[in-house]
Amino acid sequence: MTELLKDKAGLVTAGGSGIGRASAVALAKAGAKVMVSDVSEEGGRETVKLIKEGGGEAQFFKCDVSDEDQVKALVDETVSAFGKLDFAHNNAGINAGQVKIGELDSNDWDKTIKINLYGIFYCVKHQINAMLKTGGGAIVNSASGAGLEGSPNMSPYTASKHGVVGLTKSVALEYGKQNIRINSIAPGATITPAIERWAEDNPEQYNGVLESLPAGEMSTPEDQGNVVMFLCSDLARQINGVTVPIDGGYTAGK
Ligand code: NAD
Repeated sequence: MTELLKDKAGLVTAGGSGIGRASAVALAKAGAKVMVSDVSEEGGRETVKLIKEGGGEAQFFKCDVSDEDQVKALVDETVSAFGKLDFAHNNAGINAGQVKIGELDSNDWDKTIKINLYGIFYCVKHQINAMLKTGGGAIVNSASGAGLEGSPNMSPYTASKHGVVGLTKSVALEYGKQNIRINSIAPGATITPAIERWAEDNPEQYNGVLESLPAGEMSTPEDQGNVVMFLCSDLARQINGVTVPIDGGYTAGK
């Protein structure tokens, strides 16, 4: 435990797995009270358990970020439980419809944009309104390396993540004087449970990906969570409106 976020409170969406779980744990280890949210009750409650086992403070609230009423309820519940909203990590994202656009099912487009982009819009809108009432705060959105460059067979995901980067830049220019900062992270390939399963089934492809990475390894969820924790802290008080690649240098070659 550190004291970097002592007396701070906030929320993480999609905190029941991977990067969201790691950021919730890192935020709690830094002393913050964390509302862990996920559409999966099982995953979210497991994260709360991990935080409590480590001596931290956390609660669970079920929320599907593609539903504005549920997002508003999540923000209200966090303020009600902890008295304020100092930070938020808006992390929920899916990658549906991994085909060329001519073959893309429009339902996969809708589903991806609804969770990845509308979800961020709903979160940011209601979080800003809560932060305006409680003295400001810091928001971090999960974008992706696919928010900074094109990727074949991933047009809904890539479009949504470019949208997250643009939204982050615009909102950063709106509330700085009210002590609200907003940034994004752009994770490169990160070893989450889904990627681990894929790597086991496709060892040659996995090794090819490793070969293409300057660091020769993927990042871990903890690598991502630590940067989220830093961006939520006052150490990052002059960082606003940027998207931070966390990819071992991969984007530097683009
Ligand atoms: P993950 O697959 O490990 O976990 C995703 C979590 O999101 C699950 O707990 C799931 O229940 C939850 N979720 C799904 N739909 C939801 C919804 N509508 N509302 C709330 N929660 C929902 O995910 P991950 O790989 O850790 O990715 C987290 C974020 O990071 C995503 O936005 C993803 O696009 C981004 N990202 C991941 C990578 C990577 O390599 N893992 C790379 C770049 C960006």
